[in-house]
Amino acid sequence: MKKIGILGSTGSIGTQTLDIVRNNPDLQVVALAAGSNAELMEKQIREFKPSFCVMFSEKAAEDLKIRVSDLPVKVSCGMEGLLELAILPEMEVLVTAIVGMIGLRPTIAAIEKGKTIALANKETLVTAGHIIMPLAKKMGVPILPVDSEHSAIFQSLNGEKKERISKILLTASGGPFRGRKREELTDITVEDALKHPNWSMGRKITVDSSTLVNKGLEVIEAKWLFEVEPEQIEVVVHPQSIIHSMVEYVDGAVMAQLGMPDMKLPIQYALFYPDRRPMHEKRVDFFELASMTFEKPDTDTFKGLAMAYEALKAGGSMPTVYNAANEKAVSLFLDKKIKFLEIYDLIQGAMENHKVIKAPSVEEILTAEQEAYDYISDVRRRS
Ligand code: NDP
Repeated sequence: MKKIGILGSTGSIGTQTLDIVRNNPDLQVVALAAGSNAELMEKQIREFKPSFCVMFSEKAAEDLKIRVSDLPVKVSCGMEGLLELAILPEMEVLVTAIVGMIGLRPTIAAIEKGKTIALANKETLVTAGHIIMPLAKKMGVPILPVDSEHSAIFQSLNGEKKERISKILLTASGGPFRGRKREELTDITVEDALKHPNWSMGRKITVDSSTLVNKGLEVIEAKWLFEVEPEQIEVVVHPQSIIHSMVEYVDGAVMAQLGMPDMKLPIQYALFYPDRRPMHEKRVDFFELASMTFEKPDTDTFKGLAMAYEALKAGGSMPTVYNAANEKAVSLFLDKKIKFLEIYDLIQGAMENHKVIKAPSVEEILTAEQEAYDYISDVRRRS
């Protein structure tokens, strides 16, 4: 029996992780955490019977306590609750599927206690890769990627030596606005941005896919996970989303992982690595697919990707600012308070405003995050 905990169990990755638990009786859920959705959390507790549960919102935690008062489950709240969950003695694997930088401290706490990390929360490595990766190495803790691209790279590295990587080819669908120019993006609505052509995901990451910031975050994540230089990571637009990413080796051989665009495969792979379990989902039908196409990304229009490489080049605390400014800007866009293209303007402004701290501590990362938020609030107050 493998005992798992899920940070972000009510979200897109969280609920798909629970689908995998349903199909694999040797997985046991011991802990669940979410933000405020107490109604869904109650259903999950009744079905999966964890012993510990966290709602980040205090109000939601109070509500949940009443809802599950007939069950033997401890309910906690806030960062304290998330940190307590992260070090639960009986938990072996922590699936980090929270959205945003809030996942950072619980992930560090879990690694310090030797828990295996199934990592979906990309913000963790983007902001603190220089802390997480050495710590995981020191503790002998595997960081197993859940993101489909990183899982594909991880799978393409099976049996190979990292030193023999020539480059990583990170594939991107191009999002719903692929092929459009900047002038055609001025009046994009929230509804337009939420229509991803291939993947069904949470709202924030869906918007990030449309701006290519998601790909930018993935480039930064890949640098840390696979210990490569930014120049070794090339983004290839592949609109069919069948090749989930590739690795080119020093002899020119390219290894790729292919599959349908379905997050359940990389989640399950992370949960059972190095084993593969059967999965009864739709398979790639190459005759139906007929062709696969590839393009260079348009980084002049979709500046989110170019800015990620800039943030990587600046290093230190700059990726945190890139990420935090994006988080804030996307939330303003989702609330219909700013226009689509202003997301780029706010990220760029926050990055220009920031003085890089080399190798920032967790406290300095959180301060840089707050500074980026404050910068955006300031700009908005002045406009
Ligand atoms: P969702 O928005 O669907 O879900 C987010 C989850 O985080 C929800 O369970 C939410 O709870 C919870 N949450 C939000 N804030 C807090 C908080 N303060 N404390 C505790 N829990 C909180 O996101 P996704 O599942 O799409 O994405 C999750 C992470 O995985 C992101 O980092 C994303 O980049 C990454 N990822 C996602 C992929 C996907 O296909 N969706 C693919 C690859 C990576 P509540 O419902 O109560 O608000």
